[in-house]
Amino acid sequence: MSTDQNKFQAIISHCKEYGFVFQSSEIYDGLSAVYDYGQYGSELKKNIKDYWWKSMTQLHENIVGIDAAIFMHPTTWKASGHVDNFSDPMIDNKDSKKRYRVDHLIEAYAETLPEAEGNAVLAQMDELLKENDFAGLKTLIEEKKISCTVSGTSNWTDVRQFNLMFSTQLGSVTDEASEIYLRPETAQGIFVNFLNVQKTGRMKVPFGIAQIGKAFRNEIVARQFIFRMREFEQMEMQFFVRPGTQKEWYEKWKEERMQWHLSLGTDPSKYRFKDHVKLAHYADAAVDIEFDFPIGFKEVEGIHSRTDFDLKQHQEYSKKKIQYFDTEINQNYVPYVIETSIGLDRMFLLTVCNAYEEQDLSTPEKQDSRVVLKFPAKLAPIKLAVFPLTKKDGLPEVAQLLVNECKQHFHCYYEEKDSIGKRYRRQDAIGTPFCVTIDHQTKEDGTVTIRYRDSMEQERVPLTEVKNIVLSKIM
Ligand code: ATP
Repeated sequence: MSTDQNKFQAIISHCKEYGFVFQSSEIYDGLSAVYDYGQYGSELKKNIKDYWWKSMTQLHENIVGIDAAIFMHPTTWKASGHVDNFSDPMIDNKDSKKRYRVDHLIEAYAETLPEAEGNAVLAQMDELLKENDFAGLKTLIEEKKISCTVSGTSNWTDVRQFNLMFSTQLGSVTDEASEIYLRPETAQGIFVNFLNVQKTGRMKVPFGIAQIGKAFRNEIVARQFIFRMREFEQMEMQFFVRPGTQKEWYEKWKEERMQWHLSLGTDPSKYRFKDHVKLAHYADAAVDIEFDFPIGFKEVEGIHSRTDFDLKQHQEYSKKKIQYFDTEINQNYVPYVIETSIGLDRMFLLTVCNAYEEQDLSTPEKQDSRVVLKFPAKLAPIKLAVFPLTKKDGLPEVAQLLVNECKQHFHCYYEEKDSIGKRYRRQDAIGTPFCVTIDHQTKEDGTVTIRYRDSMEQERVPLTEVKNIVLSKIM
């Protein structure tokens, strides 16, 4: 394992140990590629959501938000192309007739091998999956003599496509007409509401519609913690523009989204753009924003110029006119769309990976270390921790008054157990940017010690100033 793989494992353990992310249904041994956010994780996730939502809707006068349902009319997914095109490879055993997802079959085989050999097989598989090389996958299965657990034979069909959408039944009648899907992307909820929003909001092109919500994909390669999940959340914005101006808007959104990422103070060298080589059937340009995760540079957001494909498809399938009358040029048209699509869970993982630091603080006298999450203050789950130095002499009462004053404005944490040093370390581990200690001097001159997470510096400030100091850093 490379050092970075170790770091990734350490981050995963830290996320669990400090209440950020838990495996779903862990007491039943978990559900593959499904995760729950704990007490600090849910706060961090919400803060990321709010930061994105505000930057899109509040700071752009021509972007509004919606919150569409997860269930949509099944024709939506025929129109969008997901029923026909959104798929991954599978294979059948001709003797037992049992069907396998190709990745599951190869993974189960790899687990029976010594670790290095198993990893080599998995790497080969990932490469073939990425290339959509179905013949290569079949050859790999045959070469390794992978057999079916039921028949015990290696008599396989060719590898075929497997749709990634989860389906379920609406109502109690189980016929084909009642089969519906859990949405695999939030974008279609925006497209089908284009006219509703444009008309009721009297929106003028160019304008955007933003949405945050769950999406579901029966992912084929799902082994990288919350990087690839089967239930995840997307933050998407579709920006509707006049045909012919899409290139300009695409460049603008590309730049603006990168600036959003950098506005959180991340080192720019950790980001890069990666143009799509193979464009989706609906796109005339597409780029990924990639981040340097411990597992390598990987996609966190996509910016896609989706042409008028989706609106035109919905127009055709719904037989309703989906057009916009542009009063400036006296013309009716189907708008073109620039989409920015970021995975909330991936942004969460990025934020944790970027913040995570193991520091050796040893001095000649004493061995010491800490794990600190250097979150941007505005994203930190807890903003301020308040500690009375001791449990007596009225110090807890003063500390509690400060908490009561501040908790109206931001998230605070009160603790009186253990030494101040230990309390600081626990807050470092969950990324709390400010800690305040109330001591005996506080009662004499009304000052407290404020301690800064990143520099670990401490200074005395008036108790009455604490709220404003914190507020000035988190706005
Ligand atoms: P990938 O190539 O990684 O599968 P994608 O290109 O299919 O992603 P899009 O359909 O463009 O992804 O979705 C937009 C964003 O949604 C991605 O940039 C990613 O952040 C997020 N996303 C997509 N699939 C998942 C998933 N299974 N788990 C978590 N986030 C995801």
